[in-house]
Amino acid sequence: MNIALTIALSKGRIFKETLPLLAAAGITPKDDPETSRKLILDTSLDDVKLVIIRASDVPTYVSYGAADVGVAGKDVLMEHGGDGLYEPLDLKIAKCRLMVAGFENENPSRRRMRIATKYVNSTRRYYADRREQVEIIKLYGSMELAPIVGLADRIVDVVDTGNTLKANGLVPLEHIADISSRLIVNRASMKMKHARIADFIDKLGAACGS
Ligand code: AMP
Repeated sequence: MNIALTIALSKGRIFKETLPLLAAAGITPKDDPETSRKLILDTSLDDVKLVIIRASDVPTYVSYGAADVGVAGKDVLMEHGGDGLYEPLDLKIAKCRLMVAGFENENPSRRRMRIATKYVNSTRRYYADRREQVEIIKLYGSMELAPIVGLADRIVDVVDTGNTLKANGLVPLEHIADISSRLIVNRASMKMKHARIADFIDKLGAACGS
């Protein structure tokens, strides 16, 4: 009996860097999400489908079992909390760092420091651990703009080359966490489809050297 597998992925960097790992498990998508508008992609294996969703939705689809497995950045998992998920593999792809950034020579502020970020939970935890009182402003994108227009003193964002910060006159100030993408697995799927998922994990693990 074939046991179907649904894999949740986001477009862009994670999709591109996951392709060779999927290929090692014998899975090749039949469409390219960058050009296709399809949200469910067939693959070279009849019983394996890919669902293409926003990166921040991947843990939600997998924790509710709408997808059996998924690939999500550690930044997204830290923010989500990871309830109901196994995280069996560090795929070592889409690497970056979660950082506090701001102006190099910032004026000491009299009021509580304001931090703009889409990573509200991770930011709250980071400053709470340091016993620093800050005001967190939730944004959905273009965080680098916030200090420039005076909306916030600093930002918390993922940084790869640092070029985006530099282009906006900002510098990385504090390192919060190293980030890479992880394979996540629904807890019920891990039990019900154990042999299939264990084989999938083995093949991906061998391909990424984990
Ligand atoms: P950078 O290379 O530092 O200029 O990164 C450019 C932008 O890409 C950053 O502001 C991030 O929002 C985003 N970014 C970089 N690396 C990643 C990653 N691994 N996952 C998601 N977003 C990323």
